[in-house]
Amino acid sequence: MHTLQDIISKRGAIVIKVGTNLLTDKRTGVRRKRIMQLARDVAFLRGLGHQVVIVSSGAIGAGVASLGLARRPRTIPEKQATAAVGQPVLMESYQAAFRKLGMHVGQILLTGDDFTERKRYTNARNTLRALFAQRVIPIINENDTIAVDEIKLGDNDNLSALVASLLGADLLVILSDVDGLYTDDPSKNPAAVRIPIVHSITPDIEKLARKSGSDLGTGGMVTKLQAARRCVASGVAMVIANGEDPSVLKDILTGEIRGTLFLPGSGRLSGRKKWIGYVAKPRGSVTVDDGARSALLARHTSLLPSGIIAISGEFRGQDTVSIVDRDGLEIARGVTNYSSADLQRIRGKRSGELPQILGRPSRDEVIHKDNLVITGGKS
Ligand code: GLU
Repeated sequence: MHTLQDIISKRGAIVIKVGTNLLTDKRTGVRRKRIMQLARDVAFLRGLGHQVVIVSSGAIGAGVASLGLARRPRTIPEKQATAAVGQPVLMESYQAAFRKLGMHVGQILLTGDDFTERKRYTNARNTLRALFAQRVIPIINENDTIAVDEIKLGDNDNLSALVASLLGADLLVILSDVDGLYTDDPSKNPAAVRIPIVHSITPDIEKLARKSGSDLGTGGMVTKLQAARRCVASGVAMVIANGEDPSVLKDILTGEIRGTLFLPGSGRLSGRKKWIGYVAKPRGSVTVDDGARSALLARHTSLLPSGIIAISGEFRGQDTVSIVDRDGLEIARGVTNYSSADLQRIRGKRSGELPQILGRPSRDEVIHKDNLVITGGKS
């Protein structure tokens, strides 16, 4: 699967993420014309046989205009209150636009926990499928009114990638007010050029994302790159494009590369591994020595207690944890067989010693290779 045409010709699910700046204007509120255009594009896609999901920002933006606030709120309670006002205003505009085309929309508000708990994750997927079956267009946003820090995803770039991965979508299109990924910050360097296709997300690409000027919404290029990593690992292609151009979506959807296309990785992970590596939130981390690091990366082994040098955070057996190297860089994630308290006692020990230390029959592996996903460490 090497071209955008190939990806689109599969006629699967497509997720479209639309940023705050495209949807709202500080003074005039919701940009109804832009939403109408989006509805037409979605109708076009549906006509081609795709399932479509919209991940929409703009609740806070719409709330700012409705309440006549001079600026975007800064504190969490203020943001929550503003989102509570703006979200229904935004949905009303979607409803009105889609109704004109004879289509229904449904609202889904999610928080981080909906992805971290596998049961809720499956429930969310079932609801989306039920909406597809009824030919309803799901419109998703983070549940800003209740999402406090611990359960917050924080940005809709990552939310849209999680949704695309959950659905096994073919493509995520992130529409924002940036033209794509550039070789340098285009506002500072006139020689900067747009990168049309990214075949793999190398450390150099990550560096470019940090350099690019960020847009005015919550997520800049950094969160878009995080989203791209999630997509690529789950076998989903992703495009970042400038949604100010009304024809951009239609062009992309007919196979023309506008913005930057990230091609999906070749090996699709199983649903469970996808969840472990890119969805569940790690409850803590274990630091491994260089020997364990190379065994994990080169031979995809299980993680044994002998390779562990430190543990951080408090977690229980069956929680997802992050595996980091001596420099603190994440190399993998996995489901631990041991709690953090037990790991403190058995780290650095040989497997044969465990029953004696713990006083019970014990498993050799801290994380079995079937429950482990390599997420980094390629640099
Ligand atoms: N959920 C926020 C809103 O609707 C936007 C978050 C984002 O843009 O990443 O206002």
